[in-house]
Amino acid sequence: MSTVAIIGAGVSGLSMANYLEKNNIEYHLYERRTKDDLKGHGFILPKEGIEYLSQILDIEELYTKGSFLKKYIHYSHNGNIISEKELDNVFVISRSTLIEVLSKNVPADKISYNKTLNLIGFSEDKAEMRFEDGSSLQSDIVIASDGSRSRIRRAIFQDEEMKAVRENEVVNIIENEEIAAQIESNFLKFHHEDGGLTFGVLKLSPTKILWYCQFDTFKYVISENYTPDDIKQFMLDHFGNWNPLVTSIIKGSTYENAHIWRVYELEKLNPFYHNNIAFLGDAAHPLIPFTSQGVTSALKDSYILTQLLLEKKDLQETFEKYEQERKPEIETHIRNGRILLEQFLLPLDQQPKDTLPISYK
Ligand SMILES: Cc1cc2nc3c(=O)[nH]c(=O)nc-3n(C[C@H](O)[C@H](O)[C@H](O)COP(=O)(O)OP(=O)(O)OC[C@H]3O[C@@H](n4cnc5c(N)ncnc54)[C@H](O)[C@@H]3O)c2cc1C
Repeated sequence: MSTVAIIGAGVSGLSMANYLEKNNIEYHLYERRTKDDLKGHGFILPKEGIEYLSQILDIEELYTKGSFLKKYIHYSHNGNIISEKELDNVFVISRSTLIEVLSKNVPADKISYNKTLNLIGFSEDKAEMRFEDGSSLQSDIVIASDGSRSRIRRAIFQDEEMKAVRENEVVNIIENEEIAAQIESNFLKFHHEDGGLTFGVLKLSPTKILWYCQFDTFKYVISENYTPDDIKQFMLDHFGNWNPLVTSIIKGSTYENAHIWRVYELEKLNPFYHNNIAFLGDAAHPLIPFTSQGVTSALKDSYILTQLLLEKKDLQETFEKYEQERKPEIETHIRNGRILLEQFLLPLDQQPKDTLPISYK
C-alpha cells in the first residue's frame, strides 16, 4: 500500500484526508498551525461545493452550522436597488466551523500539528521533505495543499510570478442579532457609483453577520502594519456616508477580528504535479475572491484525485489525468474572476446589471 503525506490542513488537505479515510488509503497530514488556531472568516459555497461535502460529512448537521442564501440584492451605495436574483442553494459557513468539522473525521494519530515543512528536495525523483523541527520524510505520494503561498510550489517552480491583484478586501464577522434578522437570507451588496468600492453583508447564523468590503488598491490605501483602529478609520472614511444600513453596520462593529486580505494571483498556472507531488486547492491555483470558488475547487480537486488514486494506475498517469480534469475548469474560473474584477473597477452605470458574485463554469 502506498503512503500519502499531505502538507497543509486547510480545506483542500483536510478534505483529501477525509476522502482517503473513507476509502481506506493510508495517509498522514502535516500542518503548520496549532490545532486550535482556526483563523478566517467565511466561505460561500455554491451548490456543487455542498455536493462534494455531502460525500464526507453529515450534511444535515453541517446545515445547522451555517445558512443558505436565497437572494442576491445588488444596490447602489445610497441604497437604490439595481437588481435582484434568486440564488440556487448557495451556502455560507464560517471558515473555522468548516475546518473544525472536517478535522473531526481525521483520527488524531493521522495528523501532526505544529509541523512546518521547510525544505523540499528530491532523491531518485521522490520528494524528500524536511520540517522545521529537524525531522525529514519520504513518502510514495505527496499532496501539496499548503495554500496560495505554497512553499513546495515556489521551491519547484522557481520562475513563477505572483502578482498583486488590483483589489483587496476587509473582512469581518460580528455579533448582531438585530441586523441578522433584518437581512434574513439575503446576500446584500452595495456598489459605489464611481466603481472600485463595494460593501457586502450576509447572515452567518441567527446572531452573527459577515461583512466585507472590496476596494480598488489604486484608489484606496491602507498601511501594511494596520491595527483594528486603522481598519475602523478606513471603513468610516470610505463608507461613513453610505446608506443607513451600511453606515450603522460599520459604526456598530468591533474591529479586533477584522482582517485585510491582500489578493494575489499567479501570472500563469504551473503544472498541477511534479514527480510524486500533486498540488491541490490554492497551492495549485490561487483564485481571486470574486469567483467564490476557492473552497469548492479545493473540494473538487481532492475528490477527483482520490477517485483517480483508487484506479491504482501508474502515478504519472494518475496525476496527468488529474491535471487534465481540473485545469480547464480552473482556467475558466480565472478568466471569469478577471472579468468580474474589470467590471468591479468600472463606474456603476457601465457595469452589467445582473452579474452574480460567483463564477460558474
Ligand atoms: C488563515 C486563513 C484564513 C482564511 N480565511 C478565508 C476567508 O475568510 N474567506 C475565504 O474565502 N477564504 C479564506 N481563506 C482562503 C481559503 O481557505 C482558501 O482559498 C480555500 O479554502 C482553499 O484552501 P486550501 O486548503 O487550498 O488553502 P488554505 O486554506 O490556505 O490552507 C493551507 C494550509 O496549509 C498550512 N500550511 C501552509 N504552509 C505550510 C507549511 N510550510 N507546512 C505545513 N503546513 C503549511 C496552512 O497553515 C493552512 O492550514 C483563508 C486562508 C487562511 C490560511
